[in-house]
Amino acid sequence: MRRPATRWIAGSLSVLPKPQDRPLLDILASGRYKTGPGPKVTTNRTMPIEPLYPLHFRPILKRLIWGGRRLGSILDKPLGGESDYAESWEVADHKNDVSVVADGPLAGRDLRSLIAEFGETLLGSSVGVRAQFPLLVKFLDAHQVLSVQVHPDDAKARVLVEDNGKTEAWVILHAEPGSLIYAGLRPGVTREAFAESLETGEVEPLLHRFAPKVGDCVMIPAGTVHAIGAGIVLAEIQQMSDATFRVYDWGRVGADGSPRTLHKPQALEATDYEAGPVHPHPARADAIAGGTRERLASCDYFAIERLRLTGAAEVGSLERFTLVLAIEGAAEIVHDGASYPIARGQTRLLPAALGPCEIRPIGEATVLTCVVP
Ligand SMILES: [Zn+2]
Repeated sequence: MRRPATRWIAGSLSVLPKPQDRPLLDILASGRYKTGPGPKVTTNRTMPIEPLYPLHFRPILKRLIWGGRRLGSILDKPLGGESDYAESWEVADHKNDVSVVADGPLAGRDLRSLIAEFGETLLGSSVGVRAQFPLLVKFLDAHQVLSVQVHPDDAKARVLVEDNGKTEAWVILHAEPGSLIYAGLRPGVTREAFAESLETGEVEPLLHRFAPKVGDCVMIPAGTVHAIGAGIVLAEIQQMSDATFRVYDWGRVGADGSPRTLHKPQALEATDYEAGPVHPHPARADAIAGGTRERLASCDYFAIERLRLTGAAEVGSLERFTLVLAIEGAAEIVHDGASYPIARGQTRLLPAALGPCEIRPIGEATVLTCVVP
């Protein structure tokens, strides 16, 4: 079966280019060579050049006062000796935090340079050329409760913080007994009541809360006041943004002994007072080849599915890139006859040009797939 995105080069090459052959790869990626069914060649040989493969990035670990060590103990992240590992940014292209490829021929390359170089070959025609990779994927360990916060939508973020808006979704991977998610204002809480609570510090009573279960998916549209409670480990999929307005920090102090900065005026502006309480998103499991598929969340920015696999299934699409996060067990993704392992706590980016790839669980595996709709 032909792959429309395979690039071909005609001529006297006798070997595939190596990653250090930058000029050649740059020319190939520039699009000046034809994509499609292959060129009309007048020379005596052609060969496919397809440098993209299922990409795995080095985790970007963030230490914050609410973090712990479960990114290591549960998700096998390579932690140092500290006690406050809060986030592992799996796929990121945000200001100075840009993911770097961990292995394979593109090891050492950063995501920003890859989307600049490969454009739609990587992102897909339905995503289009972008200056910035559109999604941010993280794992979080809330050893302590996070601050109560709210994120702006796109329009307000551009005015207030020169960043993108931030709609996010969580998939709960671990929840200790009694742990809580705070999501949304209770019904009837007005801007005036919320503003008053920020002055008195009586914010918690205004927040809707529930005890999450492993597997719950929680959608947090921009404008939703929220906090992740102590004892929760989750996967977070969001717009590529770090626009966070902290409104309440439970009276604690930061590493330097003083309270962390709050952003009350911006938060009052960013909050959606009509949205009300947020509940876990119900999901129905449909049978597919190899297991089941659940549509967990869908919005303008991303769509998330969960595949529970006991046999081989398919991931990826020629129209758009696909992020695959392993959340239980381990699997391998097969592309061009090669196998790319993915184990719990790992993420791979399937460039659009790869098209559908087979994913084979090793025993059983559960993965999340994330795409831009
Ligand atoms: Zn958030």
